Amino acid sequence: MAGFEFEVYKQDGRARYGKVKTVHGEFETPIFMPVGTNANVKLMRPRDLEEAGARIILSNTFHLYLKPGMEIISLHGGLHNFMKWPHSILTDSGGFQIFSLPLFKVDDEGVAFKSPLDGSRVYMSPKISMEVQKILGSDIVMAFDQCIHPDASYEETEEAVERTFKWAKISRENISPPQALFGIVQGGVFEDLRKKSTEQITSIDFEGYAIGGLSVGEPRNVTLAMTKVVVDGLPEDKPRYFMGAGSPELILELVEMGVDMFDSVFPTRLARHGAALTWNGRINIRSARYKKDLSPLDENCSCYTCTTFTKSYLHHLFSRKETLGQILLTIHNITFMMKLMERLRESIKEGEFKEFKDKYINIFS
Ligand SMILES: [Zn+2]
Repeated sequence: MAGFEFEVYKQDGRARYGKVKTVHGEFETPIFMPVGTNANVKLMRPRDLEEAGARIILSNTFHLYLKPGMEIISLHGGLHNFMKWPHSILTDSGGFQIFSLPLFKVDDEGVAFKSPLDGSRVYMSPKISMEVQKILGSDIVMAFDQCIHPDASYEETEEAVERTFKWAKISRENISPPQALFGIVQGGVFEDLRKKSTEQITSIDFEGYAIGGLSVGEPRNVTLAMTKVVVDGLPEDKPRYFMGAGSPELILELVEMGVDMFDSVFPTRLARHGAALTWNGRINIRSARYKKDLSPLDENCSCYTCTTFTKSYLHHLFSRKETLGQILLTIHNITFMMKLMERLRESIKEGEFKEFKDKYINIFS
C-alpha cells in the first residue's frame, strides 16, 4: 500500500526486528511511542524529542476534537504542522478515553458522552472518529472501538466485542491511503472472547493490529495470557501494537511474545514525580541520599541531563519544586526509553534477545 510499509527483517524466538515506513519517515521496531495527548509531549519540545531519538509519537483524537477543535487544526493543515512535528504520528481513536467517562447513550451507531471540559453532551461515532483523524492527518489511524473495564461481566464484554467488530468495518470503509489504519482487538479478560475478537478483526484487511483493553489494572499474568491468545491469531506480516504499555519490564515480556509497538505516559509521568529510569533500575531523585551526590543521573546515558548536571542539582530542583527538574528528568526518561528500544532491537538482530531480557527484567522490576 502506498505510504505505509512494514517488513520483518529478523526474528529471534518470537521477538521481531522490523521497519515501518510512513509518508513522514521510517522507524525501526520494536518501538516506543511517547504520548503527546494535547498535541505536545509534556515538557518536551519537538527538538528535544528528535534529539532523544523519537521518530513517532502518539496523540489523542478525543482530546484534540474537544480542544482546540478541528477548525483550528484545519487552519494549520493538520496536526504535523500545528505542533511542528515532522515525523510520524499515530492517533488514538478516542474509544479508550470516551468509555472511561460518564455516558449518556451507547448503541451500534456511536456514543454520547459527557464532556470532561464543560459537562456538555458530545457525540462520537466510528465515522466521526475517522473524519477527525483525516483532518489530523495522522500517519497511523486507530479504528474506533469500545473499550471496557477489566471488571466488566462476560455479557458486557461480548457486546463490546461485537460492537468493536461493527465499528472496525465502518472505520475501514472511511480511511484510505496514504493513511494507515490499525484494527483493535478487544475481549477483556476472557480467553474465548479475545480469540473471537482476534478472528473478527483479522478478517478485515488492516495495515496493523492492536491489542486493546489490557494493562488497565488486571493482574500481570492475565495481561500476558490474553496477549498470547491475541498474538497467536495475528498475521506475521503486519505490525502488532500493544496499547498502553510503557514500563520496561512489561515491554520486555511483550517483545518476547512478538509485539512490535508500544506507547504510554509512564516515562513522562514518572519524570514529573521525580522518578528516573536508569540502567541500574528506577531511582527517585527526591530521596535525601542524593543531596550531595555529584554523579550524573545515569552514567551510561548520553542525554543532555546526564552529560550536564549532577544528581545533587536535580535533587535541589525537585526540593524547590522547580519545573526545570521535571523537564530534565523527562528528557532523560524519554532518551532512556529510546535507548532501551535501540539496544533491545540490537539484541534481536544479534540473536541475543533472551540474554538481554533475562539480564534486565530483574533490574527493571
Ligand atoms: Zn540521561
